[in-house]
Amino acid sequence: MTQPCVFCAIVKGEAPASVVYRDDMVLAFMDIRPANPGHVLVVPLEHADGVLDISDEAVLARMFSVGRQVAAALTDSGVRLEGFNLFLANGTVAGQTVFHVHLHVLPRFSGDGLGFTRNANARMPPQSDLDETAERIRHAGGWE
Ligand code: AMP
Ligand code: ZN
Repeated sequence: MTQPCVFCAIVKGEAPASVVYRDDMVLAFMDIRPANPGHVLVVPLEHADGVLDISDEAVLARMFSVGRQVAAALTDSGVRLEGFNLFLANGTVAGQTVFHVHLHVLPRFSGDGLGFTRNANARMPPQSDLDETAERIRHAGGWE
């Protein structure tokens, strides 16, 4: 980490944040530029640039567990919510702009104008292509 990290500053209490939840592993706070009202971020207390840099699997599990609990609380909070996204951007090409890993808890409602666009013309590849890719992933993951 070469640049000062804004989320580390929030964790240390050196930058302002509207905190929702804190425990010994993660902090949840309001996104400063919410995509919809109630947009919350869940971050590990210990800095990691991306999800692959989290060294403790328990921290990753806690992020998702707290993300789900925040989503449940949002559902009961009166914030407009018909569904939600648990969303994590890893890498610039995936939309990551703050390089301290964070899980978005994003309330959704019909007509909110948000979306994750996919190529509408995506073809269905032959099963053999899927099998080959699955084999490559199994090999790389050491699951053979
Ligand atoms: P991402 O594009 O997935 O990296 O998301 C970064 C998110 O962090 C964006 O939704 C920003 O609005 C949010 N953000 C950036 N700086 C702050 C901050 N100081 N406090 C709260 N949220 C922030
Ligand atoms: Zn950080």
